[in-house]
Amino acid sequence: MDGLVPKRLRDSLGRLTTRWVRPGRGTAPAVRPEAVAPVPAVVDERTGRLAHQVISDSYSAIIAERPNPLRHRFHPSRAETLEADIELLTDRARSDTRLMHDRRAAELVTAARVRAYLEGNHARRARVVSDPVLLNNAHSASFTFTVQHRASGIRARFEDGAENDAHGVPLWTVYSKQHDVPGIGEQGDPDDHDAMEWRGLGIGTRVYEEGARLRPDVRWRNGSPVSAEAQGVRRKLHASDPYRWQGRCDWCEQRGIDWMGAEPSDFADHP
Ligand SMILES: [Zn+2]
Repeated sequence: MDGLVPKRLRDSLGRLTTRWVRPGRGTAPAVRPEAVAPVPAVVDERTGRLAHQVISDSYSAIIAERPNPLRHRFHPSRAETLEADIELLTDRARSDTRLMHDRRAAELVTAARVRAYLEGNHARRARVVSDPVLLNNAHSASFTFTVQHRASGIRARFEDGAENDAHGVPLWTVYSKQHDVPGIGEQGDPDDHDAMEWRGLGIGTRVYEEGARLRPDVRWRNGSPVSAEAQGVRRKLHASDPYRWQGRCDWCEQRGIDWMGAEPSDFADHP
């Protein structure tokens, strides 16, 4: 009977009986109000979303005013100014007119929250960008192959253009529209939305360079019209190796260089 206490109950016939019960069982213990820990103010989902949206939009506005606006807003190079950006972004977000009518959302736009936003996003992009693995399905005899960055799913298809330049060197092209290029990763095709997420981080350039490394015996013609990001990649590649990569270029145009008929020596002084 240790630990049990008597309890008077009425049975089914209305007679008083005694049962032995353990104290505290079946009844909630009394709690004094002052003993309860203070509950943090509940942030409803809509308020939290507005605060996040204001921070995100304000950061986009800041990036748009900087050099290289096409570069991803969380490109590793942008993390170099993190501390200054936290201050700048906090001020900018706080002055957003959408917060004037929502005091609770305004209270959420703090330097701590801005720091968490910037640090979290930078860390997420850095994890993906730092993955060095580039997959490919190239075979020595293939007329087409795909190169795909494993972590991001960014990919491009490299194709034999079935044409030679004026000196008999094969011309190939690159297609980088994500939805036209089936993925070759182990987890199946990454969806296009994810691939868009990783644009402007320099991954595309690595994919192109890997394709060129796999076919060192060919030259790369401009493909069909592509996104502004892909055009930027082409310009970079042309500047790094103007003979192998065709690209829109003032220097070549001013000298009347016909890329298809050119030889490596024509680009000796290329900037
Ligand atoms: Zn050029």
